[in-house]
Formats: sequence, C-alpha cells, structure tokens
Amino acid sequence: MTTRDGVLTWLQNFRQVLAENKDYLTALDSAIGDADHGINMDRGFGAVLAKLPTVAESDISNILKTAGMTLVSTVGGAGGPLYGTFFMRAGAALANKTELTAADVLAALDAGLAGVLQRGKATTGEKTMVDALTPARDAMRQVVEANGDIGAALHAAAAAAEQGMKATIPMLATKGRASYLGERSIGHQDPGATSSYLMLKSAADTWDSLQQG
Ligand code: ADP
Ligand code: MG
Repeated sequence: MTTRDGVLTWLQNFRQVLAENKDYLTALDSAIGDADHGINMDRGFGAVLAKLPTVAESDISNILKTAGMTLVSTVGGAGGPLYGTFFMRAGAALANKTELTAADVLAALDAGLAGVLQRGKATTGEKTMVDALTPARDAMRQVVEANGDIGAALHAAAAAAEQGMKATIPMLATKGRASYLGERSIGHQDPGATSSYLMLKSAADTWDSLQQG
C-alpha cells in the first residue's frame, strides 16, 4: 500500500528531480524542439508544489487531479497539457482513494497514458513520451498480474521507461515540434520520453526511501 503522504512525497521528489534536470531536458529539446521542455516542466511542477498545501488533506484522486489542472493552466505548448491530462486522468482513475494497492497504481498509469494517447493522437514509434509510458505500463502490468508489490511494479515501470526513452534516439519524429525536422530528428533522445522516465524513476526511488524511513 502507499498512502497520500507517499504520493505527496513523490510529487515533491519529482519536482526536485526536474529542477536538477532542467538544463538537461532543455538541452534535449534544443536539439529537436524549441529548447523549453526543462523550463516548462520545472515551472509547471513548481506551480504544482505551490498548490499542494491546499489539497494536503484531500484524497489521492483530488491531489492528482489538482496537479493536472495546475499543469494545464501554467504550462503552454504540448508538454504541459499532455502531462496535465496524464495527471487528471490518473487522478480520475483513483476516485476517493486515500491508499493505493499495486493494482491502483497500474490503473492510474494506464488511465494517464490513455489520456495522453487521446489528447496527443500519437502512437508508439513516433518519438514522444508515449514511447516511454507505454512499455512502462506494460511492464507494470506484468508485475501486478504476477502479484508483485508496488515497489517491484514501480521499478519495472522505470526500467522499461528508461529503455523506451533510449529507444527514441534512432526514431524519426512524426508528432510534435520534432516532426518539423523530419530526418534530422533521428539520432536525438526525445525530451518528453526523458521526463516521463524521470517521473517513474522518482516514483520508484520514493518508494524505496519510504520503506527505509
Ligand atoms: P513543446 O513541444 O510545445 O515545446 P515541450 O517542449 O514541453 O512542449 O514538450 C515536448 C515533448 O512533448 C516532446 O518531447 C514529446 O515527448 C511530447 N509530445 C509532443 N507532441 C506530442 C504528441 N502529439 N503526443 C505525445 N507526446 C507529444
Ligand atoms: Mg519544447
């Protein structure tokens, strides 16, 4: 089980990871986009963190939905609305919950990804965050179906997202700004796939730190 406090700690940790990786994500976006992905994510999750005190007593569903709405309203471009949709849909999948089982975490990831797919109209192989989130969801599902715990589920998801992120390097971008580059998008790692990996890695690391604490 993970609690509301676990979710709040994850959001704080992810915000920290984004601050540390702001320049890295922006450098990735400068190669195939408009050099703002790190800035967008840092600003968006800064705003999410500022909102957390207003929902700290709320259920997990409401915390994630509030995070999503905050991202949509503070970050322009493609990435903000896509992450906003991810969080709003993940929250909607967890109605009234104050504790999560591994199956709940999978349901949230699955719903969040479905929202991204719907909003971005991308599929796998187009060099986007979908290429990290889809293998992550599939790997998590395997662990949950084998009755693994949340820690195992999150670590499997993060490892699959890392592979998916790396697999974007040779891809030709066919969605988003990177698609304007055509063949020149080949050979660069997708920034959104990278931030999605960081999101799942920070969730797995947060789980580990809470077990030790
Ligand atoms: P923008 O492209 O508007 O500058 P960001 O730089 O914040 O927004 O985010 C770019 C990332 O968004 C890309 O690296 C990619 O992973 C993701 N992305 C862009 N378009 C789509 C789409 N249609 N579907 C899914 N993900 C997308
Ligand atoms: Mg950009």
